[in-house]
Amino acid sequence: MAIDTHAHLEMEAFDQDREAVLERAAAAGLTVIITVGTTIPDCEKALALARRYPQVYASVGVHPHEAKDIDAASCEALRRFAAEPKVVALGEIGLDFFYNHSAREVQLGGFAAQLDLAEELDLPVIVHDRDAHAETLALLRERRGRLQGVLHCFSGDTAMAAECVALGYYISVAGPVTYPKADQLRSAVREVPLERLLVETDCPYLAPQSRRGKRNEPAYVIETARRLAELRGMPAPEMEQITAENARRLFAKMGPR
Ligand SMILES: [Zn+2]
Repeated sequence: MAIDTHAHLEMEAFDQDREAVLERAAAAGLTVIITVGTTIPDCEKALALARRYPQVYASVGVHPHEAKDIDAASCEALRRFAAEPKVVALGEIGLDFFYNHSAREVQLGGFAAQLDLAEELDLPVIVHDRDAHAETLALLRERRGRLQGVLHCFSGDTAMAAECVALGYYISVAGPVTYPKADQLRSAVREVPLERLLVETDCPYLAPQSRRGKRNEPAYVIETARRLAELRGMPAPEMEQITAENARRLFAKMGPR
């Protein structure tokens, strides 16, 4: 009954066996997969998958890597996509000061523009933050009370998680929580209120420890949920259920089960 709140099913990595990947996800008990666009063409592909498969929902946005492509035309395209019933969020959007594929100033402008668009469209945001914790928090703080969303593949510490929660955000836990060296991450997610936790794969990236280095896929979110359940001292099925309920609350366009 788990929900993978962040997959990239539209990516080429799944072109050869997407149907089989979806079958394995269903067999593992996943009820919903949110597939997340990172460029305008990939958002169109994500949307096509959401239209085709009942269990797939889409999020649309321009990733910080492609921030140089954010302009009036791409914002207009996002507005058009967001009007579709199965588009449940704006993202992924944010800042990546690790790779810096787009200049920092350009990333900051693109992130702010898409946060404003989400507010206008009344949609939650899916935030990518890599090595840009302070700048990300500053932009979210400016919009306190006007936006909700999730810090996807959370990589901050306990204090940052607490501030995100106070700002009304959810914390999404991905495969790295299963990695032996991820003690800071495990400490942080131990403290997050249960009603603010989500799980995700970020597939095809970031496979959990048992498949580390291989292509990730939605079915493997179960391993992440299991590790998270251990950390919180509860049975894994209960953690799957709680995080699924949280996802339905945040991504309200999905509606009740
Ligand atoms: Zn992603």
